[in-house]
Amino acid sequence: MSRQLHICFFPLMAQGHTIPAINMAKLFASRGLKTTIITTPFNADFHSKTINDSQNTGLDISTLVIKFPGVVAGMPEGCESPDLATTPEMVQKFYRATTMLDKPLENLLREYKPHCLVADVFFPWATAVAAKFGIPRIVFHGTGFFSLCASLSLLEYEPHEKVESDSEPFVVPNLPVEVILMRKQLPPYVRRNAQTEFAKVYRTGKESELGCFGVVVNSFYELEPDYADHYRMVLGRKAWHIGPISLLMDKIGGKGKRGRSRGFGDEHEFLKWLDLKEANSVVYICFGSMSSFSDAQLMEIAMGLEASGKQFIWVVKKERKEGVREEWLPEGFEKRMEGKGLIIRGWAPQVLILEHEAVGGFVTHCGWNSTLEAVCAGVPMVTWPLFAEQFYNEKLVTQILRIGVEVGAHKWERLAGDFVKREALEKAVCRIMDGEEVEGMRARARALSEMASRAIEEGGSSFSNLDAFIEDVRQLHGA
Ligand code: UDP
Repeated sequence: MSRQLHICFFPLMAQGHTIPAINMAKLFASRGLKTTIITTPFNADFHSKTINDSQNTGLDISTLVIKFPGVVAGMPEGCESPDLATTPEMVQKFYRATTMLDKPLENLLREYKPHCLVADVFFPWATAVAAKFGIPRIVFHGTGFFSLCASLSLLEYEPHEKVESDSEPFVVPNLPVEVILMRKQLPPYVRRNAQTEFAKVYRTGKESELGCFGVVVNSFYELEPDYADHYRMVLGRKAWHIGPISLLMDKIGGKGKRGRSRGFGDEHEFLKWLDLKEANSVVYICFGSMSSFSDAQLMEIAMGLEASGKQFIWVVKKERKEGVREEWLPEGFEKRMEGKGLIIRGWAPQVLILEHEAVGGFVTHCGWNSTLEAVCAGVPMVTWPLFAEQFYNEKLVTQILRIGVEVGAHKWERLAGDFVKREALEKAVCRIMDGEEVEGMRARARALSEMASRAIEEGGSSFSNLDAFIEDVRQLHGA
C-alpha cells in the first residue's frame, strides 16, 4: 500500500489567504492525505475552532505554530496579520518580519519532512528552504487566473510606465482580450522604481513561480478558460486549478464559522431576518477582512443605500460602544431602516448570506474569495475595488464574465480605496437589483454557479486537477 502523503500549507497570516488555505487543507484531507497548517500563535488561535471541528469529523488536519518575529522587526506584540498593521510603516515591518520566518520553517521541515509544501506567494524564500530537504514547493496566490495573467503582463511590459499621467488609459499587453486600465488603479509596488519591502517581496514572489514545482489556483477552468490556458501555455506556468474551494465546504463542512469569530454575532439571527424577505430582494454589502473606510465614506454608503430604496445587509468593521454616538451613521438611520436594512458590526457569515435566496446582489471590494463566493452563489455584483489585485478582478467580473457593474472607484489606495459618492452607489445598486440588465446578469451568474458545482463533482475539471496534483506529488516521491 502507498504511504500516506503529507502536505504542509503555509499561508500569509491574512484572512483572505488563511481561510482558503485551511479549506484547501480540508479538501486534501478529505482525499485521505495528512495535512498541516503552519501559522503563528495569534492566527492559530483565530482558526482553532474550524480546525478542531474538522479533526472531529475525522479529517487528518493539524496545526504547527511558529513564533512571529514581529517584535524583532519593530512591531507591537501580537500584531501578526497585515490587517492589524495600521500605518504604511507597520505594513513594511510586517513584511520584513515574514522574511525572518525562513529559519523556523526550516526547523519544521527538518523535523516533519512533509512530501510537499504549499507556501504563500509572499514567502518566495520558501522554495529554497524546501529545496534543502528535497521537498517540492508549490505557490499559492489566493487569486484567479485572470489577475495572475494581468499582473504578469504589467510586470513584463510595464505599459503604465509609458503613459503621461495616472489617468491615461492603457491596454494591458498580450492578454486574450483588450483590457484597459489606468495607472491610478495599479498597486504602487508594480511601479519600476518601487523600493518598499513589500515591492521586493512581490517581485521575488512572482519570479519564484517559475522556479518552483507549480502553482495551485483557487479557481475553476470554466470560469476563466482563456486565462487558465494563457497562464499555462503562453506564460509557461505549471498550474492546477482546484476550486472553488469555498464550495467544497458544503461537502466537508465549515462554511459558516470561518475566520475571525470575534464580533460574529448570531448567524441565525441574520439568516432568520433574510428568511422573511422575498427572493433577490436584499443587497449584501461587505468589503472583506482588511478594508478600512473613513467615517465620511461610511456615511456616504449609508446615504446611498437609503436612497436606493433597496433592502440590505451591510457589514461594517466597527464595534458598537454603549452610549457613544456613531459619527459615521446618519442621524436616526437604523430607526428609519428597521426591517429594511441590517447592519452587521464585525464579522458576517458571508457564504451563508450570499447563498440565501433573498440575496440578489453583492457590493464587493472584489477580493478573490468574495468574488468566487458570489460566483458560486450566482449573485451579480457591484464592483468597488480598493487595493491589492482587486482592480483586475473587477475587469473579470464586469467586462469578461458580465455579471457585475462598476461603482466607479478608480483609485488604488490600501485599505480605503477611492472615495465613492452616494449617488454612484445608489445607481449601481439599482442596476444590479432591478435594472434592465439584471435578467441577463442573473442568468449568466446562475450558469457560472452551476458550472462551479460541476467542476468540483467527481469527473469535473477541478476534481480531476486535484487528482492530477496528488498524482504528480506522489510520482515525485515514488510514494
Ligand atoms: N469574510 C467573512 N465575513 C466578513 C468578511 C469577510 O466571512 O465579515 C470572508 C469572505 O467570505 C472571504 C474572506 O473573508 O472568504 C475575505 O477574502 P477576500 O479575498 O474576499 O478579501 P480580503 O479580506 O483578502 O481583502
